[in-house]
Amino acid sequence: MGVKFMEDCLFCKIAKGEIPSKKVYEDETVYAFYDINPEAPIHFLVIPKEHIKSANDLNDNNIDIISHIFKVINKLVVELNIADKGYRIINNCGEDGGQTVNHIHFHVLGGRNLQWPPG
Ligand code: 5GP
Ligand code: ZN
Repeated sequence: MGVKFMEDCLFCKIAKGEIPSKKVYEDETVYAFYDINPEAPIHFLVIPKEHIKSANDLNDNNIDIISHIFKVINKLVVELNIADKGYRIINNCGEDGGQTVNHIHFHVLGGRNLQWPPG
């Protein structure tokens, strides 16, 4: 069974390679790429290739991808040399959460000291 993509979704198109991106990592189910508008020296996004709109749409059938995404992040932060100093993983959900692309994604930011709390 192939991966379910959605027409007219920016991140589905990026996952399929229809829109170019700077790839960090790819496997059968996950794609990671640098954010076009980085907020830190290292800022990449990790997405499931399957179209899942937001954290609200996680359920028993698709939740396994989240543990896989965190395993991928665990590996990438070592490769990118930010594991020891630290980094931040962010998922924005919905309007108040600041989600602007409706395909679930995890931001990974590092390479500088990040302030808390966010605005
Ligand atoms: P959100 O605000 O939904 O949590 O995050 C969306 C992120 O996607 C933003 O940080 C934005 O800079 C990034 N983004 C939007 N369009 C593109 C694009 O075409 N290419 C890449 N690489 N990143 C994008
Ligand atoms: Zn999508």
